[in-house]
Amino acid sequence: MALHFGTEAWLAALFGLVIGSFLNVVIWRLPRMLELQWAAEGAQAADALAAPSGLPLPARLSLSTPGSHCPHCGHGIRWRHNIPVLSYLALRGRCADCHAGISLRYPLVELATAAWFAFCIAYWGASPMALAYCAWGATLLTLALIDWDTTLLPDCLTLPLLGAGLLASALHGIPVSLADAAWGAAGGYLSLWLVYWVFKLATGKEGMGYGDFKLFAALGAWLGWQALVPTILIASVFGLIAGLVMQITSGLREGGYIPFGPFLAGAGCAALVWGPDRVLDSLFAFAGM
Ligand SMILES: [Zn+2]
Repeated sequence: MALHFGTEAWLAALFGLVIGSFLNVVIWRLPRMLELQWAAEGAQAADALAAPSGLPLPARLSLSTPGSHCPHCGHGIRWRHNIPVLSYLALRGRCADCHAGISLRYPLVELATAAWFAFCIAYWGASPMALAYCAWGATLLTLALIDWDTTLLPDCLTLPLLGAGLLASALHGIPVSLADAAWGAAGGYLSLWLVYWVFKLATGKEGMGYGDFKLFAALGAWLGWQALVPTILIASVFGLIAGLVMQITSGLREGGYIPFGPFLAGAGCAALVWGPDRVLDSLFAFAGM
């Protein structure tokens, strides 16, 4: 199918910049919100076991409060310094108050979201299907970066993504039959679950986490079971290459663990755009060069 970059696609790109700006907030805050929640639950559990004492209340943190602020100096960010990409360029990547560097990742996430939204509209036209894939890609980007930062794939994102895939299939919002989506979800979860336990029983180590099974199940629901093998192969190849590069450049973190989520998410996008068969063909061509 040909790409058609009309007015709708450019509007989608603008919308994508705003959504990308919001994704930056989610990527940074969601893991911290979860950690505060777990700490509070842990404290409650400890209190229930031990003598009752004053509950240590965690600092309030949600996606909307406190307002956006510089992590270095704590100054609130003015609206004119909070415009996607443009503010980053205008401030030359520095905080307006303390001049500490702002990560290049912020504008990159905004641009990536804008590019994906524009692509979806250009590829599938202004349709419910394009909208579904916009949301799908935004969720995958968020999951990939949270996993990269924290090795967490929060259930509050993977499970709704899985449910939304089954629903989109049932409503004929995506070109995957409900049977293919259900087999994809079940097969995705169970295949990695099986690999995990075989690996764990054989080596005593944990190769991945339950979040990876749920993310793979969600990809299976959105892409159908036919995409499972190509997706896991391409994710493994790129994960392995990244692991080798990080080993050579000694960029590996403690324990040598590389989060698998970003590679699963990227492979899922490749399988969607190029189709599972073509992804597989390119992979074999690449391996047999
Ligand atoms: Zn600052």
